[in-house]
Amino acid sequence: MFTNSHQSITRRNFDVIVIGGGSAGCATAYNLAIKGANVALLEKFDLNTQASGRNAGSLHGQIQFEPFHQLGMKWARDFLPGLSFLASSLEIWKTLGEKLNTDLEVGGKGGLMVAESASDMVALEAKVKLENEVGIASRLIDQKELHEMAPYISQKMLGAAFCPIEGKANPLVTAPAFAARAKEVGASIVTGVEVLAIEKVDGKFKILTDAGDFFAEKVVLTANAGLPKLAKSLGLDLPISDVPVQVSVTEQVDKFVNHLIYFTTEKLTFKQANSGSLLIGGGWPARYDNSGEAVLNLDSLQSNLRVALKVCPSISKIKVIRTWIGVGNGTPDHNPVIGELPNTPGAYVGMYPYMGFTASPLLGEVLSDLVLNSASKIDLKPFALTRF
Ligand SMILES: Cc1cc2nc3c(=O)[nH]c(=O)nc-3n(C[C@H](O)[C@H](O)[C@H](O)COP(=O)(O)OP(=O)(O)OC[C@H]3O[C@@H](n4cnc5c(N)ncnc54)[C@H](O)[C@@H]3O)c2cc1C
Repeated sequence: MFTNSHQSITRRNFDVIVIGGGSAGCATAYNLAIKGANVALLEKFDLNTQASGRNAGSLHGQIQFEPFHQLGMKWARDFLPGLSFLASSLEIWKTLGEKLNTDLEVGGKGGLMVAESASDMVALEAKVKLENEVGIASRLIDQKELHEMAPYISQKMLGAAFCPIEGKANPLVTAPAFAARAKEVGASIVTGVEVLAIEKVDGKFKILTDAGDFFAEKVVLTANAGLPKLAKSLGLDLPISDVPVQVSVTEQVDKFVNHLIYFTTEKLTFKQANSGSLLIGGGWPARYDNSGEAVLNLDSLQSNLRVALKVCPSISKIKVIRTWIGVGNGTPDHNPVIGELPNTPGAYVGMYPYMGFTASPLLGEVLSDLVLNSASKIDLKPFALTRF
C-alpha cells in the first residue's frame, strides 16, 4: 500500500492540498510533486474508487455523436476548445506509461463511429470537417474500407468516421500509478479523509475534514461529484450534473477488436481490453433507488447489449460477466471547468465532464502550472468557472 490512512498523518501543513483521489487529482498531485511542491492529496474513500476507477477506458478524440445530433453545429463549434484539450491529452498518453513506469495498456488503432443511414453519414461528414479545423485527422470512410478495417462490424453499416488518435487504456491502473509516482517524489497521499468545508483564514486555507483540520497556501478541488459542495463552501455555484451510467464486461476471448467502436443511431462504446474482455458501454443510464444509491437499470443493460449486437452480430455467443455503475459528471456545454475561483485567490477547480479519464493527464499538468506559475500553456477562457 502506498497511501496513508488518516490515523498515521502527523503533518497538517502543506504548500498545496489537492482534494479528490481520482485520475484528475492523482495527476495533479503527481505534476505538483515532480515540480517540487510540498503537496498532499486528500481522498474520502480509497484512491480511484469513483468515476476514474469505474469508467470504460476509452481514450476519446472526436466529437460525440449524441450531443452533436441533439445540440447542433453551434454547440459543436463551442466545444472545439474541449475537443482540442482531449487531443493534447492524447499526446501525453502516448508516453505516459514510460513516465509513470507502469503498463497503462494504452493501445488501439483509432476510433470508428459507424453509421447505418445515409443521413448520419452526411452528419458525420460535417462533424469530421469541424474536427479537421482543430487539426484532428479524422476522416469519413465508406462501407468497403470500414469492413476491411473492422470485418466484425455488421454488413448493414454504411461507413464510419475514423479518428486515428483514439484508443483505450486501463482505468484501474492509471490513477494509482500517478499517485505512486507522486508519493515517490514526496507527496503525501492521504485516504479515508473527507473534506467537509474549506475556509480562508489569514490568507491561508483551512481544510476542515472528518479527521481534523489541514492547512495549505493553495488548494485544488478535483472532487468531481463532490465538487459542487466544496466550491459552494468557497462561494461558487457550479452547475454540474450527476450522471450515473453503466458499463459491462464480457468473458475473455481471442483478440478481434482493434478499434474503439461507436454507433450514431444509439449510445454505444465497444472495445476489447488487453485481457481479451470486451467492454460495452456508451453512457446508458443507471437509476437511483429509493435510498438515493445508483443501481443497475436492467432496461438500459438490455438496450446496451442489443445495440452492441446490432453493430457487431458475432458477439452473440460471448458472455457478459459483470455490469457496474459509476457516477460521472456533466457541464451544460460539455466543456471542462478549469481555473482559479474568482473570489478566492489560491483555490483552483479542475473537472472535465463525460470524458475526463482521457483528459486527466493534461488536466494534471494544467492545474499544476496554474497553481505554481499562475499560467497555463493552453487558453483557459472557454473553461472559465464563471461562464454559466
Ligand atoms: C461508467 C463511466 C464510464 C466512463 N467512461 C469513460 C471513458 O471511457 N473515457 C473517458 O475519458 N471518460 C469516461 N468517463 C468519465 C471519467 O471517468 C470521469 O470524467 C473522470 O474519471 C473524472 O475524474 P475525476 O478525478 O475528476 O473524478 P473521480 O474519479 O470521481 O474522483 C473524484 C474523487 O474525489 C473524491 N471526493 C469527493 N468529494 C470529496 C471530499 N469532500 N473529500 C475528499 N474526497 C472527495 C471522491 O471520493 C473521488 O475519489 C466515464 C464515467 C463513468 C461514470
